[in-house]
Amino acid sequence: MEFRPFRVPLVIPFRGLTERSGVLVRGRRPDGSEAWGEYSPFPDYDARRASLWWNAAMEAARGEWPEPVRDAVAVNSIVPDVEPGQVAGYATAGGCIVAKVKVAGRGSTLDRDCRRVEAAAEAVAASGSPEAKVRIDANGAWGVDEAVSAIDALNRAAVAGGVGELEYVEQPCAAIEDLVAVRRKVGVPIAADESVRLPEDPLAVARSDAADILVLKVAPLGGVRACLRIAEEAGLPVVVSSAMETSVGLAAGLALALALPQLEYASGLGTASLLVRDTVTRPLRPRDGVLCSTPPEVIA
Ligand SMILES: [Mg+2]
Repeated sequence: MEFRPFRVPLVIPFRGLTERSGVLVRGRRPDGSEAWGEYSPFPDYDARRASLWWNAAMEAARGEWPEPVRDAVAVNSIVPDVEPGQVAGYATAGGCIVAKVKVAGRGSTLDRDCRRVEAAAEAVAASGSPEAKVRIDANGAWGVDEAVSAIDALNRAAVAGGVGELEYVEQPCAAIEDLVAVRRKVGVPIAADESVRLPEDPLAVARSDAADILVLKVAPLGGVRACLRIAEEAGLPVVVSSAMETSVGLAAGLALALALPQLEYASGLGTASLLVRDTVTRPLRPRDGVLCSTPPEVIA
């Protein structure tokens, strides 16, 4: 195996980071062809979580991904914590018609988030597609009561923007019991992200009836096959999402999205556009809102 360190600046800060760094691992598939994996855990990860990331990188470098059952997947755009006037460009990037808006960020207000959600809704609704939707992600920032009122306001903003109700709200609160409480009080479906990948048991959310949808991220959960097992055991619809990897890591997410027996939601794999540069010659970026399977050609 060969190891190649990389460092890639981000277009705008994410999780307090201004760059992504890690190691690309080159290995071989069983047929002898070259395969690449990405090991890029976040700096605050402990050894247990970093080891899951390592497992995912090795699975990729050994070419151990399962066979695909489809050849393309729809992806969503991502709207970071930018000003309302900047939202439309992010929302429709890559031809996406499903936009995920980050809300409840430090320094934002509910009023500003409502304007951002409405702007994103208007931008994707302009496609004229009945599939145009907006989903939001609060990254666990709210308490239960705050979540209930914020979701109501943000849902009205989505409707005002012309896409109907929010597709779902991702991780409104941090604690699983709070997700349970919010889910009982709101009509918008609840997706769990941090509650799936941070606890030692990724199925705790499903067992607690705390969510309608699971967000699965290949690297933090230990690989494509580990995610397929979680999806099967949870028995809930899943959304495949990235952990802000470069295109080598994104290819693992795409391998999962291509292999899942059922996939009803657009995948959160359109994040290569948030990198200033990439580790491959042809970055994995959506066209017409869709990603197709292409093996990464790593930049020498
Ligand atoms: Mg999330």
